[in-house]
Amino acid sequence: MEVFECRGCGTALTGPLSRVAFPVYAGIPYGNGVAMPVLMESGTYGVHEGPAGGARSIVIAPGDAHGTALVQRRELGACCGIDGRYGPNLTCVGCGRKVATRVDDCSLWQATWLEPAAVRPVAESPAPPVADWVSVAGRWRAAALVEADGSRSIRWDVEAAVTLAHLVSAADGAPLALAPGPLAQAFRGLLGQLPPPQTRPARRAALAGPGRPLPRPLPDIAVVPRHPQTGEPWPTPPGVAAAPLAAEYWAALAFRDERELAPATGRLPPGVERDDPLPPHSLYAGYLDQWVFRAVLNRLNGVDDTQHDHR
Ligand SMILES: [Zn+2]
Repeated sequence: MEVFECRGCGTALTGPLSRVAFPVYAGIPYGNGVAMPVLMESGTYGVHEGPAGGARSIVIAPGDAHGTALVQRRELGACCGIDGRYGPNLTCVGCGRKVATRVDDCSLWQATWLEPAAVRPVAESPAPPVADWVSVAGRWRAAALVEADGSRSIRWDVEAAVTLAHLVSAADGAPLALAPGPLAQAFRGLLGQLPPPQTRPARRAALAGPGRPLPRPLPDIAVVPRHPQTGEPWPTPPGVAAAPLAAEYWAALAFRDERELAPATGRLPPGVERDDPLPPHSLYAGYLDQWVFRAVLNRLNGVDDTQHDHR
């Protein structure tokens, strides 16, 4: 794990952080005027690498920044918060040099972007081991696909758009036949928002990954989990293309029918009502994030996009 410190004076600017895969949708706005969640899980950081492998930007959760002060200035054009358009707005409390940019305007993922030229990582403890696939799938078996208040999760809308781009790219212009069940329920509505594909034999897509028997016959495209630490997709059998899906989302679909219900005890408190039977857990990612979809599809097609340079 690394602590980032100021290159100028050595002040620690973060707690110990472990590196995880850089989210491909970092820096891409979502919807219009939407209050956004924090991009990075606390205790982690992601690195957007430039063409030569150097760090173009380093992103952390805002709460993981220490020893910084916000520059108080007018941010013309920003809406509900700071959009970072005027460059670094956090200074080192030790020496005053500009070290990072806090972004929290609406429709932008809340994040703090460290300036690679102003900070340096200092190894603090060994990196946590890379989790094996079985524990990745197990950890997220009961992940909720909706927020605590029952509303649709922005994170899963965006992750679904990423996976849809992989599915469309792997189909290479052919229609997609989604395996019936959770995969079709989660992606059919999104697929319907795209232009109809050419009239050709459909390519078959199905869920595959750790803890599940391989679908038979083998599909053309397997929707597999993406490792939360390495960003690598679960390795597919030869001849099967991979469409990676965030591990949490994947596990929630793959093990949908295996969840255990919590035992109920006692009675509902007075005034509390609920449906009987409970309404089905929502799988339906109805909103297609076109910006993320196009950005990922462009990248898969080898088109350079600069969406990540949000500042
Ligand atoms: Zn400093």
